[in-house]
Amino acid sequence: MKKLLILFILFTLSACATSPTGRSQFMLVSPEEAINSSREAYVQTLLPLQKEGKIDSDAITSKRIRLITGRIIAQAILLYPHTRDWEWSVKVIDDPEMVNAWCMAGGKMAIYTGLINKLAATDDEIAQVMGHEISHALANHTAERMSIALATQLGLSGVAVAASNNKYKGAILVGSSLAAATAITLPNSRTAETEADLMGIELAARAGYDPRSAATLWEKMAKVGGDGPPQFLSTHPSPVNRQEKLEILAKEMMGYYLDTSKRPVYQLQ
Ligand SMILES: [Zn+2]
Repeated sequence: MKKLLILFILFTLSACATSPTGRSQFMLVSPEEAINSSREAYVQTLLPLQKEGKIDSDAITSKRIRLITGRIIAQAILLYPHTRDWEWSVKVIDDPEMVNAWCMAGGKMAIYTGLINKLAATDDEIAQVMGHEISHALANHTAERMSIALATQLGLSGVAVAASNNKYKGAILVGSSLAAATAITLPNSRTAETEADLMGIELAARAGYDPRSAATLWEKMAKVGGDGPPQFLSTHPSPVNRQEKLEILAKEMMGYYLDTSKRPVYQLQ
């Protein structure tokens, strides 16, 4: 009975949404809720690192990342004007072993020095990483992953959830910022990966970055040494034929890349 009640609550809360590529999405958390929760989760995630002096500790690297990301954000805003109001942010986290990057709902991003240095990533390759990450946020994949994190948490505290409506509301509130922080550690589906690959390579090409570098980025990612595969690959599983698909996409995107008109830059703090 209690299980049925939880299911009922989950279904009444959920809504169907459609991603930018036309895929239907099952959402327990609305994109707006995901953005609000991510605001807090971002601060909480970065605060301990800030205290250790591990955020933006190298001015030149941070400037480079802000410029690349700022160019891609400018294109994201042109294609998806509602994101003009997002509180976009990117931070470089000093962790030489961590080959990773992420973007929370609402455009709150981080990239680790391990990804930049271990891959010896070019500007074009970093643009592919950031374009891909931003696309996960644009397509509300963060809200999808938060929905999974929240459903898991609700399942665990199911008795309390069913026991009282007020307690249930508490679980949602507590769960939200926790779910936002958890979401960046959960793997995306392969369908979501295909979607982010497609959107990301276009954003990067429109921002003036070579679409052929998408293939070299994933090649480098697969080869990077150390203990086991990099964190990035565990949260971004490879869709079928990623390499071939990216090579075909790269040809289609060359027009945007070779366009010589001036590219706008979004000014990040
Ligand atoms: Zn991904």
